[in-house]
Amino acid sequence: MKRLKIHKGDQVMVVSGKEAGKSGKVMRVEAAEGRVVVEHLNMLKKHTKPNPKKNPQGGVIEREGPIDISNVMLMCPSCNQPTRVGYRFTEGGAKVRVCRRPGCGSDIDKA
Ligand SMILES: [Zn+2]
Repeated sequence: MKRLKIHKGDQVMVVSGKEAGKSGKVMRVEAAEGRVVVEHLNMLKKHTKPNPKKNPQGGVIEREGPIDISNVMLMCPSCNQPTRVGYRFTEGGAKVRVCRRPGCGSDIDKA
């Protein structure tokens, strides 16, 4: 499976499209499609018919739609800014993501 720079649980900021400038937590990564689903962002309205089991009223359900991964940037938990992602290897050989903002360079993953 392709390893993406954005992981489930990350805080990301949307950098283009109608949700640009908003940030949220990644709920799901669709690696094959190169998309992420971000909590409360890119809400899509879905009209549903009444369904006695799931939803007796019917009506409009709002749901997060996927966002192309190229439209989001990872938020660095240290400097709290959207950043490009770099990698480094720890002494133990673990690969961790690092913030590439000048003056920060903090690890994004716990080593
Ligand atoms: Zn940073």
